[in-house]
Order: sequence, then C-alpha cells, then structure tokens
Amino acid sequence: INNLIDPVKKLINFTEQFQNGITGFDRFIEILAIEPDIQDKKDAVDLKDVKGRIEFEQVSFKYDETTVDVFCGINLKVEAGDYMALVGPSGVGKTTMCSLIPRFYEVSEGSIRIDGIDIRDIKLKSLRKSIGIVQQDVYLFAGTVMDNIRYGALNASDDEVIKAAKNANAHDFIMELPDGYDTYIGQRGVKLSGGQKQRLSIARVFLKNPPILIFDEATSALDNESEKVVQESLEKLAKNRTTFVIAHRLTTIRNAKNIIVLTEDGIKEQGTHQELLDQNGVYASLYHA
Ligand code: ADP
Ligand code: MG
Repeated sequence: INNLIDPVKKLINFTEQFQNGITGFDRFIEILAIEPDIQDKKDAVDLKDVKGRIEFEQVSFKYDETTVDVFCGINLKVEAGDYMALVGPSGVGKTTMCSLIPRFYEVSEGSIRIDGIDIRDIKLKSLRKSIGIVQQDVYLFAGTVMDNIRYGALNASDDEVIKAAKNANAHDFIMELPDGYDTYIGQRGVKLSGGQKQRLSIARVFLKNPPILIFDEATSALDNESEKVVQESLEKLAKNRTTFVIAHRLTTIRNAKNIIVLTEDGIKEQGTHQELLDQNGVYASLYHA
C-alpha cells in the first residue's frame, strides 16, 4: 500500500549504480524519469508566468497511515520573491515540508497553492520545472562538466551553460580542469571537491531558471572557505525568486525576510532575525547555542 514515491530511496539506488560505474547520462535520465505514482488530473493546468507566491493552508502530513503526523495544521504565506528560512531541530520535518511543494509527497490534509493555484491542479512536469532544488548531496553523472550542467535545461546552448557556470562562481575552476568544460567527471574522471560539485549543481539551477527555489542544508557539508563561495552563489541565485532556505548554521539566514521556527508542535515562532531574538524563545536559544 505504498503509493508514495520515495525520491530519497530512488536517489540512493541511483548513487549505488553510480558507484558501480554503470551510470551514464541516459541511465541517469531514465532513473529520474521513472513513472511517477502521482498522476496529473485530467484537467491539470500548466503554470504560466509564475510569480511564486506560496501558501500552505492547514497542511498535515504523515508518511503512511500507520504513523503519526510529521506535522499538522501548518499555515504559511510566502510572498513572491521572498527569502524564507526554515529552522528547527533535526528530524522535525523541514525537508519533508519542502518536499511537499514539488509534490514528491502528497499532503495528507490541507492544501498548498502557488499563485493561488492548488498544486494538485498543476501538471507535475510544469510544477517541477518551476522549482529548483539545491541540497547537501549533489548528484553528478559520469560525463563531461558541460553535460552535467546542461542537465538543468537539456536544450541549452554551450554559451548558456557557460553563462550559468559564471553565475554560479564555477567558471574559473572549470577552466583550470584538464579539459575545461569537456573534462570528464564521475567514476573514472576527475574528482571534484564538495564545494565544486555544489557550484555545478547551482549552475544547473541557474540554467533551469525556476521562479521558486529550495535550498536544503546546501552548504552543511562544506568547510568554511568553500561555504563562503557557495553561499555567495546561492544568494545571487535567490535574487528575485521565492526561496525556501533550510539552514543548519543560523548565520546564513540573518537577512531572511521571514524565519520560521519549526518544532515538534508545529510552527513555533515566525519573524525576522531581530524579532525572534527579541522574543527570546526557541530561535534565540538556538542562535546563542
Ligand atoms: P528535518 O529535515 O527537519 O531534519 P525530515 O523532514 O527529514 O526532518 O524528517 C521528519 C520526520 O519524518 C523524521 O521523523 C524522519 O524520520 C521522518 N521521515 C523522513 N523521511 C521519511 C521517509 N521517506 N519515510 C518515512 N519517514 C520519513
Ligand atoms: Mg532535513
């Protein structure tokens, strides 16, 4: 009775195959394009000229019928172009909450709307095209740097790929690789550092150019120095896009328009960095810890 996709499991399978060295570009596409269990409604619409206003209304979610809700009754309004941070203890449901927006999982109750349209009324392909995700783990396939970035928008020209790489602060290190953009990466190719991989994944998203972004602990595996460079590209990417940032280090979200503190009891606090510090509650204690 498991009719939910498990994107994480899918990606783990993918990683295993990657490590076994049998993953070329075609295989990568094939794995990520597995027939989704979530199907379009007959009259589902395409998103057009997305502004990126996002609303959660009374959203509850549980992974399956036999377990308790991860969260329930979540209400949230994010204006188009806002930079919204989500903080809270590990395991509280931050990743889960964000994965409901691209419909990796269906809400159990309530609804999520983009520009006023219930996401269940939007064609899945159109919905996911509008959302860019940067997470801690970067999935690169065996192929050239050029092909790996182009995965963000398969019809993009070489010039567009290079422009995206420049935006992501990746161009300079790519030019220093043995064959530049034609350098083979992956199993038997050149090994990249965590920060370099992350910048390639950011270049992908620049190329895709979606109006909505999710950064899920994108810099948490990086050392301080590469975190700074990656953080810079992330902030550039977030300009004029609605952005959800899940941050493990609170210093990276000080400038967020709105910070949501998620706890076991749902959204506990909400406000700017200064407002939350003044409240002297959960955020303040996380911040001072
Ligand atoms: P956070 O991102 O805040 O650390 P998560 O959203 O990853 O939290 O997890 C919230 C809860 O849901 C945790 O109890 C976690 O064990 C559970 N969980 C996460 N992913 C799955 C899954 N695919 N299947 C079942 N339970 C899950
Ligand atoms: Mg998480």
